[in-house]
Amino acid sequence: MSLKMMCVVAHPDDECFAFGGALALAAERGIETYVICLTDGQAATNRGEAVSGEELGKMRRDEFAASCKVLGVRHHELLDYQDARLEFADFSRAAGRLVERMRRFQPDVVLTFGGDGALNTHADHMMVSSLTTAAFHWAGREKRYPDLAKVFQPTRLFYLSTNFFLPDRQAPLPIPWSVKLDIESVRSKKTDAFRVHTSQAPLMERTKSLFDTYGGEEYYALVATAESQPARLSVDLFEGL
Ligand SMILES: [Zn+2]
Repeated sequence: MSLKMMCVVAHPDDECFAFGGALALAAERGIETYVICLTDGQAATNRGEAVSGEELGKMRRDEFAASCKVLGVRHHELLDYQDARLEFADFSRAAGRLVERMRRFQPDVVLTFGGDGALNTHADHMMVSSLTTAAFHWAGREKRYPDLAKVFQPTRLFYLSTNFFLPDRQAPLPIPWSVKLDIESVRSKKTDAFRVHTSQAPLMERTKSLFDTYGGEEYYALVATAESQPARLSVDLFEGL
């Protein structure tokens, strides 16, 4: 059976600016990928030509789909949570929706943000981290959501770390990395995926020099695993699977 990877994000464009390298690398290896995005990004600072939140949401849904296509993502899904309001969502229900998807898709590897909220310390990123972490552990527990699909324990959970900060922002407190991914071979795909988020073009412009300097690598930390193993550094999210 082929390997599978699930990536859980908060906003359209998280899939590329944060996880684009890992997703494109996996796709090139024939690994089945599934990206779940919890909101449609209506609260974004950069709004393109959109005259309403609804219009921006629709635009960003399309951009998300196009970006996933560039990255070779096999399945993508956008849920209906409100952008910038994730900390007010019903935790148990939201985690349950992720548990159900993990049990049905049965990923080997799950990727999400760390508790720091990534470069911009966005509260939605922090919430996605908490929800995905809970879902990762609960998916394999008989007592949790017994009516939501068949129990399945994904093998590895990774958080995103970083090798740079945004100079104009308070620095996040990222988790130290344990996996250094060389994404040079798919770097152009990551950039192209970012580029189809036309509503976010000013953001891309602002961060271009940082990604030019530091964007040849992505950093992750293994934060939970169903395999008993000593701690080690790696260059591959799927090493040994
Ligand atoms: Zn985001």
